[in-house]
Amino acid sequence: MYKAKAYSASSATSPLASTTIARRDPTDTDVQMEILFCGVCHSDLHQVRNEWSGMMPTVYPCTPGHEIVGRVTKVGSAAKKFKPGDLGAIGCLVDSDGSCPACKAGLEQFCPNAVYTYNSPDKHMDGKMTYGGYSDSVVVDERFVLRVPSNLTLAGAAPLLCAGITTYSPMRHWAVGKGKKVGVVGLGGLGHMGVKFAHAFGAHTVVFTTSMSKKEDALRLGADEVVLSTDANQMKRHAGSFDFILDAVSARHDINAYLQQLRLDGNLTIVGVPAKPHELNATSLIFGRHSLSGSLIGGIPETQEMLDFCGQHNITADVEVIPIQKINEAYERMLKSDVKYRFSIDLASLKSE
Ligand code: NAP
Ligand code: ZN
Repeated sequence: MYKAKAYSASSATSPLASTTIARRDPTDTDVQMEILFCGVCHSDLHQVRNEWSGMMPTVYPCTPGHEIVGRVTKVGSAAKKFKPGDLGAIGCLVDSDGSCPACKAGLEQFCPNAVYTYNSPDKHMDGKMTYGGYSDSVVVDERFVLRVPSNLTLAGAAPLLCAGITTYSPMRHWAVGKGKKVGVVGLGGLGHMGVKFAHAFGAHTVVFTTSMSKKEDALRLGADEVVLSTDANQMKRHAGSFDFILDAVSARHDINAYLQQLRLDGNLTIVGVPAKPHELNATSLIFGRHSLSGSLIGGIPETQEMLDFCGQHNITADVEVIPIQKINEAYERMLKSDVKYRFSIDLASLKSE
């Protein structure tokens, strides 16, 4: 075991603060990385503040971060994919049983024994919780380390590991492409990646936002149209016309308003995980035979496919790079939707702690 520098929260109400955490020494199949950048996901905030206490209670201290890009510093004797000096990336998953039907299908996120990058019992550390990427280094089994295309900027590539795959995967699943009208609800970290992918897949892309100040950005990111969701007239104009809508909103809101935007057999997929449950009107599904789905990040093969797609199309997140010392301020700004469109922590800033 060794000590790594990190930021962690000691309770649901305390700010993130400088600390050290225990990491395992690399085993035969492990890769050790120096973390260069880590994106700031709204899930980090939900978990640091124990907002998912019902489904996934937070164990403290909690070091969040699951959008990790780094440089390999050491590999185990049986690890073949990486060598020291290579770039590597880690998303929301660091382990799974490898033998269940979900793992065999490359859908490790649905493995009953999946281990998340943070706040998950760690079999290597006597069941203590895993610690995430707000840290200077990490040790992970090489099956869960991904390759980063060399043309992508690293600060902007980090958010692909969660915001990227979480929007790419459902759009692939629901065959978003040419000739489809696609909506993205909420222009945040996930939403802005959803717009980039829907546009890259060739769909007619419409952004639903509560912040009309984001209109120009939405168009620049690839939207064909922007709808102010608080304006009933604008909403009415599109009613019954969408093939697919991705809802990436972090707070409770009226999902019925978006179900009513779907055409016959259209699908609304929710990826946002608000602390409080949504209310569903049966008629929003019944009229138009609409379907409502969810989607959880993506498996390891699809995450690599997404990174390669981003390499080919030169897609990264639009990021504001911050030093780790600004993380608490960044959380407050994220709550006000005041980020364009993802914070990415430069972990070089941790060296001075
Ligand atoms: P984010 O950057 O904070 O973006 C959320 C966006 O939602 C905001 O930019 C805002 O967009 C909109 N919004 C916020 N509060 C709202 C409200 N009260 N009413 C209506 N719209 C509101 O968050 P994120 O990192 O993209 O994450 C979004 C959600 O996805 C979080 O709940 C996160 O935990 C979840 N998530 C899920 C998965 C998964 O696998 N399913 C993976 C990662 C994250 P506008 O200003 O455009 O309205
Ligand atoms: Zn995330």
